[in-house]
Amino acid sequence: MSVSRLFVEADLAAGIEAPLGKAQVHYLRHVMRRPDGAPLRLFNGRDGEWQAMLSGRGKKSAVAEVGERTRPQVVEPDVWLCFAPVKRARIDYIAEKATELGASVLQPVLTRHTAVERVNVERLRANAIEAAEQTERLSVPDVRKPVDLARLLAGWPDGRRLLLCDETGGGPPIAEVLGGLDDAARAAPWAIVVGPEGGFAEEELTALRRIRDVMAVGLGPRILRADTAALAALACWQALVGDWRQPTPRLSADYRTSRVTV
Ligand code: SAH
Repeated sequence: MSVSRLFVEADLAAGIEAPLGKAQVHYLRHVMRRPDGAPLRLFNGRDGEWQAMLSGRGKKSAVAEVGERTRPQVVEPDVWLCFAPVKRARIDYIAEKATELGASVLQPVLTRHTAVERVNVERLRANAIEAAEQTERLSVPDVRKPVDLARLLAGWPDGRRLLLCDETGGGPPIAEVLGGLDDAARAAPWAIVVGPEGGFAEEELTALRRIRDVMAVGLGPRILRADTAALAALACWQALVGDWRQPTPRLSADYRTSRVTV
């Protein structure tokens, strides 16, 4: 039997009872058919990962009795993904895949040519949690409310580098730019910014290029859809700047067999 891995809000420590949400209890009992006493693994983005046991508290509720810690919390790359909202299936795809690829923040950005203005942040968050549970991440990206591009840039944090994916500017290739960074630049906080399906407006590109630590790059000769561009850029960033530069950790046999299969 595989071990279900769940994200919880509660602090985690040996011997405590972590509350489980209604949806989690329903999922464990009725989707996964887990009996009381079933093993779980829990993480909350702060305290590492813990073994736990499902323990019923009446018909509809249950808690997780927390046991030993299985992994300590690690520092993960600080890379935001700023993207223009797209249609439902594609934005869900961005949330899931960017979580797998290790983005720390998912920031929907409204631009002149953004076709979709309404974003269901709760649904995106649920997608991110599910992806984090599946992917052995110890954190869930912070899914933020949509913000206008001008506003985002006006409050741009000092020192956060901005990797601008620009299909119009004849910019240098992404690998050349990221491959040439020094240690200080690699250790800095980053953000990847990708435009909407209709592209950035000229004045938006001008405003983006005015940010102090901006680097405009190209992703090859083909025009990619916004979701493809976002994930391709994130993969390049992880490979050249982020945690894909480390060897993959050796995982115990337990990790290989304990994927949550829904
Ligand atoms: N300007 C185009 C398409 C925009 S593609 C149009 O008018 O239809 C959506 C976004 O993906 C772009 O804003 C850019 O951020 C990114 N993108 C797509 N292909 C790219 C490439 N080859 N290089 C860099 N960025 C790219």
